[in-house]
Amino acid sequence: MAEKIISNDNGDTVVFCGTLVHSTNASPMIILQDQVIGVQKGKIIFVQPKEDLQRVLDQHGLPKGCVKCLTKYQFLMPGLIDTHIHAPQYVYTGTALDLPLLDWLNRYTFPTEAKFSDLEFATYAYNKVVRRTLRCGTTTASYFATIHKESSLRLAEIAADVGQRAFIGKVNADQNSPPNYVETLEQSLADTEWFIEKMKDLKNPLIAPIITPRFAISCSRELMTGLGELAKKHNLRVQSHISENRDEVKTVLELYPDCKNYTDVYDKCGLMTDKTLMAHCIYLDDEEIQTFKDRGSAMSHCACSNFSLRSGVMDCRKMKESGVKLGLGTDVSGGYNPSMFGAIRDTITASNVQSIQHQPDRPYKHLDFREVFQLATLGGSKVLGIDSIVGNFEVGKEFDALLVTMDTEDSPFDIFQTDAYRDSLEDMIQKFLFLGKIILN
Ligand SMILES: [Zn+2]
Repeated sequence: MAEKIISNDNGDTVVFCGTLVHSTNASPMIILQDQVIGVQKGKIIFVQPKEDLQRVLDQHGLPKGCVKCLTKYQFLMPGLIDTHIHAPQYVYTGTALDLPLLDWLNRYTFPTEAKFSDLEFATYAYNKVVRRTLRCGTTTASYFATIHKESSLRLAEIAADVGQRAFIGKVNADQNSPPNYVETLEQSLADTEWFIEKMKDLKNPLIAPIITPRFAISCSRELMTGLGELAKKHNLRVQSHISENRDEVKTVLELYPDCKNYTDVYDKCGLMTDKTLMAHCIYLDDEEIQTFKDRGSAMSHCACSNFSLRSGVMDCRKMKESGVKLGLGTDVSGGYNPSMFGAIRDTITASNVQSIQHQPDRPYKHLDFREVFQLATLGGSKVLGIDSIVGNFEVGKEFDALLVTMDTEDSPFDIFQTDAYRDSLEDMIQKFLFLGKIILN
């Protein structure tokens, strides 16, 4: 399965001829066969049926030599968007899944993240995670780093170097954390301002800072309020966790007894905006979901993590139908799989679990593979507010794409093209989404 990433291509004009698979607002998955897509300076300049090829080449003054034809077992799809991933936790991905969230943080996460005060180690580890996620087809990621400002900046520099679009959060935490991995209120705010300024100095359109309070247990009200002010002052996105685990929700409500619910804690601190993205959202009540809608805040569904730490199963159908912006995240390493193809599969399973739980008294429409594909691409772009730039193959957007080859020798699935049984093109794409390799070449 030789899938190749073609992202943020600033080279010569190129025209691909073949199958395109993407989503629009109206359709979760559109399969466009025999198309030509023109890319100039990294931007999509036309999408037309193949029979119009000569006309569009003439119209744009392009030579025939710039046309690259895909085989009938290849297709282009938008790059995947991981809306929630912890870069430092990648070092223990695939291990340490024996404890529930709050114990897991204390036993594994805080001690590991504390090691990122060492810039050399941070550089080594961040190179690994950025390259790995890119190889998995993640062309955009919203990262949590650690509380350390220099190594958070290093993560940004590494993503910029390899051309991955990335939102980088220097994590904030001034309470309920171990002594070697905690900030004072003043230091946390000052370091965040420093980080924002340094990120601006990078002057890279692919890279942006995102305000990142770890969650309401690790942050004082004063810190969260200060971060809300910083987000407003610099017009920045905000990311955090909400309602992931029952014990977490209980603890938050004990810490903030004047708040009517978990969402209200962030809302009172000015952290629920139309640039806010909250991971998990499993135990939100209807009033909280309404607050998300009212504020224009978005949700990141992290199914692998929710299964792996036995946190719960988010009702993705309900959230989708509420109209809240919704995308998918790997949540490495509560989620053990750094691949968004894994996130697609786990989201389908989570929706199936919801469907089983609703039986037999209430009808429930599970999410199908097309809808989940949409969440992993166009959905993620809306969550991060970059849907005018990437997320599908609309003319004018950046060409941020994966080239998928389905018939390689080492493919983990088989395509049948016999008289007795013949896979349709959609069958092949579905097989790829369920069974294709999660690591690209
Ligand atoms: Zn997380």
